[in-house]
Formats: sequence, C-alpha cells, structure tokens
Amino acid sequence: MRDLMKLKVFTAMLICALVLAGCSTATGETNVSKEDEQNEVQPIAIQGAMDVEISALLEEMKDYKEEQHGNYTFYIGKIAGTPVVVSRTEVGMVHAAASTTVLIEKYNPKAIINQGTAGGHDPDLHVFDTVIGTEVMNIGNMRTEHLDEGQGMKPDEWLFMSTDMREDGEEVEYETFESDPELVKIALSVADQYKYGEVVEGKVGSADFWNREIDRIQWFHENAGTSVEEMEAASVAQVAKGFNVPYLSVRTVSNSEVSNDNIEDLETAGQYGAEYAVEIVKAMSK
Ligand code: SAH
Repeated sequence: MRDLMKLKVFTAMLICALVLAGCSTATGETNVSKEDEQNEVQPIAIQGAMDVEISALLEEMKDYKEEQHGNYTFYIGKIAGTPVVVSRTEVGMVHAAASTTVLIEKYNPKAIINQGTAGGHDPDLHVFDTVIGTEVMNIGNMRTEHLDEGQGMKPDEWLFMSTDMREDGEEVEYETFESDPELVKIALSVADQYKYGEVVEGKVGSADFWNREIDRIQWFHENAGTSVEEMEAASVAQVAKGFNVPYLSVRTVSNSEVSNDNIEDLETAGQYGAEYAVEIVKAMSK
C-alpha cells in the first residue's frame, strides 16, 4: 500500500516536472526564434504583377523557396548574396494592396521595389524605355460634379481626389506618393546598365483601367502629369507609406498609343524591367 502511494506521488511529480520542462522548452524556443528573426537581415522585396515581370528575377536567384499566402506567391532567396523576397502581386490595385500588406507582415522587408510594365502617356517615351516613378498617383481616384438626368457623362471634367493617411492620429492628404529619394538615387546610379532604351524620372499613374483613347491619355498626361499608366504602383506606395517602408516604382514601357512604336510586348518589357531591377538590388547591396 505504501509502495503504491510512493509510486503515485512519484508519478505525479514526474508529470509536474515534464509539464514544467515542456512549458520552459516551448517558451525557450519561441524566444530563440524571435531573436533569430530580429538578427536576420531584412530582405529587399521586388514585386511584379505577372509571371513575365518576375521570371528574370527567379532566374537570377536560381535557388529559392516558394511560399503561398492566400492568393499571393512569394519567392525567398538571394540576388548577388543579398536576401530578397520576390513577390507576384497579381494584376490590379486590390491585389497589389493585399499582397503588399501580406509582404510587409510576413517578411518585414527593408524596402519594396514595385516594377513591371506600363503604357506610355508621354509621347517622348518609347516602348522599352524605363521610368523611375519618383511620384505615383492613383488616377482612378476621381469624383464628378452633379449633372442632371440627360446631361450625359463628361469624363474630361472629372476631378482627381486625394488620399487621406492617418499619421500620428492626424489625417494627412496625399495627391501623390513619392518613391524614396535614396532608392531613386540608387536606381539612377545604375541607369547606364540599362541597354534597351532611355531611363528617365517620371510620374506613374495607376488605376484598374487600360486606356487606349488617345485624347484620354493626353488628358491624363496634361492634367495629372503622368509619364505612364499601369495598375499597381500607387496602391503599393499607399500601403508602403502606411507601414513606413521605403518604396521605389520602376516601370518599363510595354505599349504606347502616343509614340508611334506600334509595339505591345509585355513579355519583353517585363524581362527588361526585371533585369534593371536586378541591377538596382545589386547597387542597394553595396
Ligand atoms: N492578364 C492580362 C494582362 C493584364 S495587363 C492578360 O490576359 O494578358 C495589365 C498589366 O500590365 C498590369 O499589371 C499593368 O500594371 C500592366 N500594364 C502594362 N501596360 C498597361 C497599360 N497601358 N494600361 C494599364 N496597365 C498596363
């Protein structure tokens, strides 16, 4: 009987000890991995909406780990020894915003390069020229004045709206978002590596829209000062701003209604732009 009691007490103590050991191991492991995370170098994130805009980046990485979060794919690896996360955002403003939020939350990037293809607004830009988007603007963010029934639609009288951000509790209005000036400098410093056309600074307009009406394109160019249009940059810039992550917009012209090039080649422009992004990452790593 006493032996049985001893056994019971011993068993109880053993269970307690195991539970405590289990607890401390679990806590220990969590702390270690948090420390590891903190010690880890923050990666540079490079985004492209479509496969043709990221394939050159994946080739450059050679080995990478693929991770999926919801609809969005992330490729973790290195370019020239620097940790990078290549992100396929998918096409459009909503996808770009959602995947950028996931990118920031999961990978804590030290900078985001949003790159890819675009349509020309500036008649001086040719297909395969590349624009460093010093400014990006949501050109789908518009309002109209009241018109009565039967008065029709007047797109050339539509007005741009600004975007409110909350900064330290205060609302701050943005008409455009800026690329990080240091990242712009770095991108310009390797502009001579780009052999497929000119590299210029300019303004990138974004909306869930593909415009082919020349009058409308000219209207944007004149009223918003846009150099090119595409469907992600302003959305990414807005989210990056909301999380204080430095941002850079780089877009290679893949089509233009106003340049007389008569080329629409997203695949080649996507390749060229991504090659330039590789040079930017290399320059950032120095
Ligand atoms: N998924 C489509 C292609 C989408 S094209 C297909 O079936 O082929 C839209 C993508 O190209 C967007 O990511 C946008 O950023 C870019 N783009 C290139 N030129 C554009 C233009 N002229 N207007 C709008 N987006 C353009």
